[in-house]
Amino acid sequence: MTRLETETVNSAKTRKPLYAARQKIFPKRASGNFRRFKWLVMTITLGIYYLAAWLPWARGPFAPDQAVLLDLANRRFYFFFIEIWPQEFFYVAGLLVMAGVGLFLITSTVGRAWCGYACPQTVWVDLFLVVERAIEGDRNARMKLDAGPWTARKLMLRVSKHTIWLVIGAATGGAWIFYFADAPTLLGELFTGTAAPVAYITVAVLTATTYTFGGLMREQVCTYMCPWPRIQAAMLDENSLTVTYNDWR
Ligand code: SF4
Repeated sequence: MTRLETETVNSAKTRKPLYAARQKIFPKRASGNFRRFKWLVMTITLGIYYLAAWLPWARGPFAPDQAVLLDLANRRFYFFFIEIWPQEFFYVAGLLVMAGVGLFLITSTVGRAWCGYACPQTVWVDLFLVVERAIEGDRNARMKLDAGPWTARKLMLRVSKHTIWLVIGAATGGAWIFYFADAPTLLGELFTGTAAPVAYITVAVLTATTYTFGGLMREQVCTYMCPWPRIQAAMLDENSLTVTYNDWR
């Protein structure tokens, strides 16, 4: 009887690692119409996120005068003139379904517009890159600094950059919790140490995730964590517009 030597296709000997460490990327400052449009989208989306909770809206004596508010304690969702009660939540579900279909439509017609312009990961990485560029310089200066030895100047630049990144992370976490309570009152409580523990925990978690995803992981989030590229691949072909790095980088 002949003995056949066989090996499973995913045996430990031939299996390629599923994870690759992040390659350092030093994107150069871009210019042109697409970049100008991206600055505009970035300004609008960040402006909405950081400021919407502070827009006033008269709501009478039983709710904070806030235009956008998720009042979890009383199970109400306020959005300008719209007030949603729990039994009306299927409207929100319908809106989310419509947003999903809209995303599919945009992706299949103009390519990776969501990833390239409006995804929060893209917008915050872009913001972190603005800080990095302002402190360490454009591509060549950053590459030189990264390859060079640790000097007092390099240490100072790196500490400044990471400190500002952490401040942005804290501002991002802080902005989030203002959607769940009267923003001016909560801001005062936060700084006087009288806010609920969950507020501090939320700010701490969002500070850490914003800093890690936007500053340290960047495109690793897209490669390993985000489900959207897996779905998106089904809607793209070789003629689709994609926003990627050049392969020689
Ligand atoms: S892959 Fe995911 S995380 Fe990355 S930009 Fe696209 S939607 Fe955002």
